Amino acid sequence: MTIQTRIEEAAQGDKGFAARTNPDEVRHDWTREELQALYDLPFNDLIFEAQIVHRRWFKSNEVQMSTLLSIKTGGCPEDCGYCAQSAKFDTGLKASKLMEVEKVLAEARRAKEAGATRYCMGAAWREPKDRDMDMICAMVSGIKDMGMETCMTLGMLSGQQVHRLAQSGLDYYNHNIDTSEEYYPKVISTRTFQDRLDTLERVRNAGINVCSGGIVGMGESQSDRLGMLMALANLPEHPQSVPINMLMPMEGTPLGLSEKVDPLDFVRMIAVARIIMPQSVVRLAAGRELMSDEQQALCFMAGANSIFVGDKLLTAKNPEADKDRVLLDKLGIVSMPAHSCPSEKKVSADR
Ligand code: SAM
Ligand code: SF4
Repeated sequence: MTIQTRIEEAAQGDKGFAARTNPDEVRHDWTREELQALYDLPFNDLIFEAQIVHRRWFKSNEVQMSTLLSIKTGGCPEDCGYCAQSAKFDTGLKASKLMEVEKVLAEARRAKEAGATRYCMGAAWREPKDRDMDMICAMVSGIKDMGMETCMTLGMLSGQQVHRLAQSGLDYYNHNIDTSEEYYPKVISTRTFQDRLDTLERVRNAGINVCSGGIVGMGESQSDRLGMLMALANLPEHPQSVPINMLMPMEGTPLGLSEKVDPLDFVRMIAVARIIMPQSVVRLAAGRELMSDEQQALCFMAGANSIFVGDKLLTAKNPEADKDRVLLDKLGIVSMPAHSCPSEKKVSADR
């Protein structure tokens, strides 16, 4: 073949490539084989396909920015093998009590001033005690009054607790399924995968938006990774927000010495999540600080459109936050306005 013919052929482009998925279709019947076929596409084709879906439902250069606060740290009775907050492992973390409402509201106010549109709060609990719910609900309504979206992650919830959170106007509840149903008992023994699904069902049925995803890098197989995405995509409604975490190995936990995830495998996971849950915001969550700028850029190309940012993102005081800002500016990424997720349920207090 002459150089001229090669150039001419290249100029024709790959007209034979047709996207496998219809970006308008929201499915809940994905099979592992279908997910594997997507995952195994040549990298460029996978990214192209993810981009088609992404641009159908989202603005291509917008990323949702959330700020996260730990309102109760450490001393958790659960034994999640990845977590530094479990009381079962000697990780050197000091346990603290539930933060006072006023302190939480003051932190949220600062985050709002720094540009955050959603305020996420996490507690190291197996489940909240009923006596904690007054304080939790006061945090939710106080932050909503500031005009921010709210998200809580408190562990398992009873029907009554879900009802109270819904009444206080909670926008999102985070409850990760973490891995496939088969691999789950290898990571956590103090609750079951089904316990997780039960809480998700209660939250969904109460009209609260669901944030649920998992972790990559806990020694699971590729089939487990796709099994996790399949379980999320085949829920009766796709979680409105899907965090994909890369394990941060924590010293003293059973998974503290885990091997690093191959960066391109991680990007492929993001792309598959984007394709099979087209109307969900896909969050590049824990582990982003372990990723290069190039890996993060590929994740955004593959359809990730949410991150956690330090609450000082717009100031130069926090070097990490400043680094984020430089990267986002380089990529031309701007903040996604609140309530831009096409599948989000509108939430009002006193439902
Ligand atoms: N106790 C609540 C629960 O488990 O739902 C909420 C707090 S927990 C810290 C929130 C999520 O953080 C977990 O579901 C897990 O997916 C993620 N996570 C915790 N430790 C992690 C680690 N070392 N690396 C990556 N993700 C982690
Ligand atoms: Fe950590 Fe949450 Fe598991 Fe407790 S339930 S050990 S806080 S991940």
